[in-house]
Amino acid sequence: MSSADSTVVNGGISFWHAQEVRKAREAGGKAPAPRPHLPGDAHADVAVVGGGYTGLWTAYYLKKAEPSLRITVLEREFCGYGASGRNGGWLYNGIAGRDRYARLHGHEAAVRLQRAMNDTVAEVVRVTGEEGIDADVHRGGVLEVARTPAQLTRLRAYHETELAYGEEDRELYDARGTAERVRVAGALGATWTPHGARLHPAKLVRGLAAAVEALGVTVHENTPVTGTVPGRAVTPYGTVRAPYVLSCTEGFTAGLKGQRRTWLPMNSSMIVTRPLTGEQWEAVGWEGRETLGDMAHAYLYAQRTADGRIALGGRGNPYRYGSRTDAGGRTRAATVRELYEALLRLFPALSGIGLDHTWSGVLGVPRDWCAAVTLDRATGLGRAGGYVGSGVATANLAGRTLRDLVRHDSGQADPTDLTALPWVNHRTRRWEPEPLRWLGVQGLYAAYRAADRRERAAGGAGSSRVARVADRIAGR
Ligand SMILES: Cc1cc2nc3c(=O)[nH]c(=O)nc-3n(C[C@H](O)[C@H](O)[C@H](O)COP(=O)(O)OP(=O)(O)OC[C@H]3O[C@@H](n4cnc5c(N)ncnc54)[C@H](O)[C@@H]3O)c2cc1C
Repeated sequence: MSSADSTVVNGGISFWHAQEVRKAREAGGKAPAPRPHLPGDAHADVAVVGGGYTGLWTAYYLKKAEPSLRITVLEREFCGYGASGRNGGWLYNGIAGRDRYARLHGHEAAVRLQRAMNDTVAEVVRVTGEEGIDADVHRGGVLEVARTPAQLTRLRAYHETELAYGEEDRELYDARGTAERVRVAGALGATWTPHGARLHPAKLVRGLAAAVEALGVTVHENTPVTGTVPGRAVTPYGTVRAPYVLSCTEGFTAGLKGQRRTWLPMNSSMIVTRPLTGEQWEAVGWEGRETLGDMAHAYLYAQRTADGRIALGGRGNPYRYGSRTDAGGRTRAATVRELYEALLRLFPALSGIGLDHTWSGVLGVPRDWCAAVTLDRATGLGRAGGYVGSGVATANLAGRTLRDLVRHDSGQADPTDLTALPWVNHRTRRWEPEPLRWLGVQGLYAAYRAADRRERAAGGAGSSRVARVADRIAGR
């Protein structure tokens, strides 16, 4: 058995999505039907573009706060078509851009942002429980391991940085302590935070869509928004007129008119194994079901699924020329091979294990790698995203923040702690035009891979200079 096995499903949105479709078929005999598209012109108080975590959390919290609000979600395909139905299921407290926000607004502001993220993990767990969304949530924290001396140096520095941002409950492990949690081959140490949980991404997004509908939010699927202007979201079926139009399209934002260079659509790819045998789990450990990552420059992320598999992802083919996004998540063979090899480097005891599925998705990367939430008070146009691969929890904080911004702007509420966070109304410059964009991202990831190879070969404790230069060029 190998990664090249022809029985591996490639694309089809994601393994998570396919599992949900199968479950629905088994229960009712057919795949779930999409919600009807917008039937014609309509009015709302808030129009939300995009039915992923960001759009749905925004709709959820707004409706909870003001049950009389008329909220319409417009989704091009179906809720969970994007990264929210394809991700690695790491619900964790990382937020893109925190260090830059500390430089721009001071350390204390960044600590507030970090605390808000820590609380966000708990908030998502709370709401899934309250709404009866069974998303296979397991709160085992996040374990990040170092497998070379250079990674260990970075890991210790990272651990210290996180403590300085107020994460007093973070723990540092040596090789032995790491192996007691997960037996990653050659692991020299690890850092663990309790502010993380493993979840099933598609179950969360589908559950959320059902929850917002149950609250009285209108959700239209198969409804592409072709343009947003103040007071209007335009679709081929009609226009939704609303004083607030909120774009929650993250990795797809480049496809909207005038937005090609706003956020770069970055690909991330995943594989999932067949269920492991009891003997294989014995060899691997991982009883705490922590989400698992490493400290490589081209890092990987993994989870132990509720049905006993390993799902693992990384940046295979990071960017397509012209900010194109894929359709169904098809993943090239070379990427599958790379991810499979990465899996076996972590757990050599799994040699020969079969894969069931591989897929890819897009996430949004701003030019300065800083996630942001914005609401333009003059136009009523808002947006949230640019989470750079840390969107599962951050989208929830974004949803609550958009709620507070809209409520404050419409005179229904005072500013809140959330509207005072440093990522609110942060502006970033646009990405370079092509071919510079393509060349830059390809060069960046080639440099990170080369740096990882060098660090593995050299065995020294310092980070490769190549990666440091790449970080500077990227503006990270
Ligand atoms: C493979 C992969 C693994 C990841 N793993 C993790 C992880 O483990 N942890 C983590 O924190 N983050 C992870 N991320 C990132 C995270 O999944 C995303 O940041 C997050 O899901 C973004 O949610 P969103 O709602 O903003 O965007 P999306 O989920 O992408 O939703 C946007 C929606 O907008 C719709 N849309 C697009 N254009 C239009 C239009 N014109 N009109 C109407 N609708 C439109 C799309 O169809 C889509 O449904 C991962 C991402 C990927 C791709």
